[in-house]
Amino acid sequence: MAETNFDEEMKNVLEKLSEKELRMTPQRILISKTILSMVKNHSSLKEIYDETQKVLPRVGMSTVYNTIKMLEALKIIDTFDVDGKMRIDQTFPHINIYCRNEDKIIDLDENAMEEITKILAKYGVNMNIKKILIDGKCIDS
Ligand SMILES: [Zn+2]
Repeated sequence: MAETNFDEEMKNVLEKLSEKELRMTPQRILISKTILSMVKNHSSLKEIYDETQKVLPRVGMSTVYNTIKMLEALKIIDTFDVDGKMRIDQTFPHINIYCRNEDKIIDLDENAMEEITKILAKYGVNMNIKKILIDGKCIDS
């Protein structure tokens, strides 16, 4: 996430929470900031937890998990499972490429999703696709 975006996103989080009259503790704000700073990397719960420990050594895994789920419920982030491990993701419709051998997930641009939607339409399949995960071994070219 670009730095400029980041403060906007955080403002968005706090606005959405106050609309729902949810209380945001300083601890939750710090955890949310950590989560948002890692969303582009598709970080796992464990990675987010480790990062959170650097600023909040006493925080528990369940608090980190609950904060992720709160941000997901507010539609600020998305989550999905890869090999039974939760990963965080951006919410716009896109294709994720999972390089199994490198344990890395990268995003394809939004045009790729449009193309796939068009191809499916040719087969009479009209879908509102939210997320695609392509799972494989990435080979250096
Ligand atoms: Zn993604």
